[in-house]
Amino acid sequence: MPVKKAAKKKSTKRPASTKKYSYNFGKKTDGNSKQKELLGGKGANLAEMARIGLPVPPGFTITTEVCTYFYDNKQTYPKSLVAEVKNSVALIEKQLGKRLGDTKNPLLLSVRSGARESMPGMMDTILNLGLNDKTVVALAKESGNEAFAYDCYRRFIQMYGDVVMGVQAVNENDHCPFEAALEKLRKEVKVEFDNQLTADHLKELIKRYQAIIKKRTKSAFPQDPYAQLWGSVGAVFKSWQNERAILYRQKYNIPASWGTAVNVQAMVFGNMGEDCATGVAFTRDPANGEKVFYGEYLINAQGEDVVAGIRTPNPIAQLKEEMPNAHKDLEAVRVKLEKHFKDMQDFEFTVQNNKLYMLQTRNGKRTGLAAVRIAVELNKERLIDQSIALMKIPADSISSLLVAVFDPAAIKKATPLAHGLPAGPGAASGKICFTADKAESVVAKGGHAVLCRVETTPEDLRGMIAADGILTSRGGVSSHAALVARQMNKVCVCGASDVIIDYKAKTLKIGRKVLKEGSDISIDGTTGAIYAGHVATAPSEVDQVLNGKMKAEKSYTYQLFAQVMKWADKYRKLGVRTNADSPSQASSAVAFGAEGIGLCRTEHMFFEGDRITYMRQMILASDEKERRAALKKLLPFQRRDFTGLFKAMGGRPVTVRLLDPPLHEFLPHDLAAKKELAKSLGVKVEDINERVEALHEANPMLGHRGCRLGISYPEITEMQARAIFEAAAACYKLAKPVKIIPEVMVPLVGFEDELKNQVSVIHRVAKEVMAAKKVKFKYLVGTMIEVPRGALTADEIANTAEFFSFGTNDLTQTGLGMSRDDAGSFLGKYKELDIMPQNPFASIDASGVGQLVEIGAQKGRSTNGKLKLGICGEHGGDPQSIEFFHQVGLDYVSCSPPRVPVARLAAAQAALK
Ligand code: PEP
Ligand code: MG
Repeated sequence: MPVKKAAKKKSTKRPASTKKYSYNFGKKTDGNSKQKELLGGKGANLAEMARIGLPVPPGFTITTEVCTYFYDNKQTYPKSLVAEVKNSVALIEKQLGKRLGDTKNPLLLSVRSGARESMPGMMDTILNLGLNDKTVVALAKESGNEAFAYDCYRRFIQMYGDVVMGVQAVNENDHCPFEAALEKLRKEVKVEFDNQLTADHLKELIKRYQAIIKKRTKSAFPQDPYAQLWGSVGAVFKSWQNERAILYRQKYNIPASWGTAVNVQAMVFGNMGEDCATGVAFTRDPANGEKVFYGEYLINAQGEDVVAGIRTPNPIAQLKEEMPNAHKDLEAVRVKLEKHFKDMQDFEFTVQNNKLYMLQTRNGKRTGLAAVRIAVELNKERLIDQSIALMKIPADSISSLLVAVFDPAAIKKATPLAHGLPAGPGAASGKICFTADKAESVVAKGGHAVLCRVETTPEDLRGMIAADGILTSRGGVSSHAALVARQMNKVCVCGASDVIIDYKAKTLKIGRKVLKEGSDISIDGTTGAIYAGHVATAPSEVDQVLNGKMKAEKSYTYQLFAQVMKWADKYRKLGVRTNADSPSQASSAVAFGAEGIGLCRTEHMFFEGDRITYMRQMILASDEKERRAALKKLLPFQRRDFTGLFKAMGGRPVTVRLLDPPLHEFLPHDLAAKKELAKSLGVKVEDINERVEALHEANPMLGHRGCRLGISYPEITEMQARAIFEAAAACYKLAKPVKIIPEVMVPLVGFEDELKNQVSVIHRVAKEVMAAKKVKFKYLVGTMIEVPRGALTADEIANTAEFFSFGTNDLTQTGLGMSRDDAGSFLGKYKELDIMPQNPFASIDASGVGQLVEIGAQKGRSTNGKLKLGICGEHGGDPQSIEFFHQVGLDYVSCSPPRVPVARLAAAQAALK
C-alpha cells in the first residue's frame, strides 16, 4: 500500500506548537482509558491501570497523531516531539532513580506498538533498550547475575537487528540468522537450552551477533541509547505498514488511517532468576467463557517467551504453589480489573524478585461461545445490563454456537491419537497442510484444510484464514495460534506436544503413526482431541435442541443462545425473515426464529427430477401452445412445493418471487445432456443446439430475465400465480387451516408499467382460483427493487406495489456497474488500495448503493403509506448492512436460515446504538 494512503485523517502538516504528543503514566498520569483513539488501546489502559493504583512500571505513550504525521511528512516527526520525549524519559528516570545510558545505574526501556484495536503480533516490539557494551556491565553488577545481563543484551541486539536494521531470514526456508548463530553456539559448547549458556558464552554470542549486523547492513549496532530509542520508535511506526499488519487490517476492517501509538516503558524483568516470572492471564476462560482464572506463566522468562510459544508454559493455578504471594496479588488484580472495566480482561504481568507488575490489560479476545457466555454471566452478576450485554457480543459470534461438532456415532469409532489444548471450539476435518500456501491452494480447489504448524507466526495468517482448523505442536492457550484462531472463530488445537511436525519431510508423526501432507486429519477444538483421517461432523447442541433431539435443560449452550435471542427480540425493531426455497430450509429457519420467508427463489424448484425436462420443454417450445402444454406439467410440482412451504411456515408470510434468471441457465450445455434432452423431446440434437444458440446472450445478467420473461411469456406468470394461489387455497381447506397470506413478487422492475403488466395477470388468476376453489384469501403483490431506475421511480411503482423488497445483490451489480459474478477478479486490489475497503456484495456500499435503498424507501412511502419494505439480498445477513437497513427504516431483513440468529442480534444492536 502506498505510504501516503496511511494518513487519511486530518492533515498534520503544520502541527500547532501547543499540541501534546507524549502522554506519561506512572506517578504522574496524563491519559485514561477513554483515549484509545489517541493513545491506542495499550497506552490508554496502561494509563487507566496506573490511575486505579495497579503496579504499572512508569512510561509514556507517543500518540497515534505522530504516526499520521510520520506518514504525512516523509517519515519524520513533529519538531516538539524530541523535547517531549526527553522530558518523559526524565520523568521515568526521576521515579526510578536510574538514567538512560548511565554506566552505573542504567534505565532500560521497552518500546511497543499499540493501535486503537489490538492487532496481536502484527507489529514490532523492542525490549531491553538502553543496553550497550558499557551499560551491560552495570546491569550485570546491579543484578548480581552476569549471565542474565548478557542474555538481555543479546536478546536486545537480536530484536533490534531484526526489527530496526532488517537482519532477517531471506525466505520461508531460511533460518533467522541470529537463531542460527545461537543454535550453532549451543552445539559448539554442547548445551541443550539457552538458559544453560554462561556469561562467557553469551559474550561470544554478542560478538557474533554484532558481526552479523555489520556484515549484513554495513553499519554497526548503535551504542547510543537515544539513537536506539529513535530507531525503535521509527521501526514501530513503520511496522504499521508491514505486510502482515496490512493483511490483518483488511481482514478486520481496521482503517489504515488510524495509525498506531508507541509505548515506551521502564523494563521489568521476569528472567532475573527463580523468583521472577512472566505470564499472560484472562479473568475468565477465553475459549469457553467459564468464570475461572485462566492463564499461564513461565518462571525466569521474558514475556515474549510466553506469547511466542517457544516453551510451553504452566497453568496459572500452579503459580499458587510456586509463588503464593504473587498469585494472591494477581487474584486481587483479577477482581479489580473486572470490576473496573466490566468485561473479561486479558492481561500481561511480570514478577520481578517476587513483586508483581502489570504490563498490559485489554478486553480479552474470545471465541464466539465465550463472548455469549461472558455477556450473559456478567449480566447475571449485575456488572452490566441487558443492553450492554447484547452490545458485547459480536453479532457474527452467535453463529459459533451453531458450529458443527463431531458426529457422535463417528466419534465413538474414532480413537484420539493425541490431545492438545482446546483453543477454538468446534470440529474440523480436512487435509493436512504445513504451509499457508498449501492451505490456500487446497481451499481454492474446493477442499478443506487443517493448517498444521509447530507454532504459528503472523506469516501464517493467510493459511489460518483459509483453513477450517489449526493444529500446533507447541505453545499454550495464549500463543499466537490460539489468539488468532479465537478471534477468527476457527477450530483450534494448540500445544499438542505429542505431535511431531517435520516440515522438510512433510510429515506429521504421533507415536508410530506417520501422516503425510494432504492426508486427512480431524481436530476437536472443544476437547483438544486429534484424530487421523476424516471424522464426520454433526449439528451443534443448539441445533439438536431446536430439532427436538436434545432437551433444553441438558444444554447450557442452548440456554445461553435462547437468552441472547430473547433479549435481542426485545430490543430489535427490524423483522427478520429468511430466504428459503424448500420446506426443510423453511423449518430450520423458523426454528432459528425467522418470522416469514422474504424470498423464495422459484427457479431453485425447477432443477429436481422430471421438472428440469418439463422446464426445458417449456423453454424450447416453438409457440405458445407448446409452451402452455409444458407449463401444465410443471404446475402440479409448483403447487406441491408451495403447499409444503406454506405449511412449514405455519401461516407466517411467504414472499414468492416469480421466475427470474435468464432461460438459458436451464438448458443443457454438454453433448450428453443435449442428446438426452433431444431423445426425451423427440427432436434432433441440432434443433436443441439451434435453440440454445438462439437463447445465447452477450450479457445475460442485463438480458432477458426478471419481469421481462413474464412480459414476453405471460403464461409463465400465469402458471406460477396459479400454483401459488391454488396452494394457498389448499392450505385454507386443511382440517387445521393454515391461513397463509401469499406475497407474489415480481423481479427486476424498473418501470411502473412493467409491474402493471404482471399485476393484471396475477389479479386475474387470483380471481379465477378463488372462484374455482370457492375460498377467499388475502394476498399481496409487490416487486423487487434491484435496478437503479426502480429505486429512482419508486414513488410511481409504489402506486401499483403493496410491498418492495430490495434485491441488493442486483442493485449492487447494476448500481455499481460491477458484475456480481466477475467482481472477484479486481475487488482484492480495490480492498488493498482502500478504494473499496469492503466487498460491496457482502456489506452494503452505504454511501452509493445505500442511497438507492434510501431513496427507494422514501419515495415509495411518499405515495403509498402502507408500503411494506424489506431486503432480501445477501446483505440481509450482514451485521453492518443490517445496521444501515435499520437506520433507513426498513421493516425487515431476509437472510439465509443459519444467519437468522445473527440478523436478530445485529438488528437489536442497531436499535441500541
Ligand atoms: C438480489 O438481487 O438481491 C436478489 C435477492 O435476487 P437474486 O440474488 O436471486 O438475483
Ligand atoms: Mg436479483
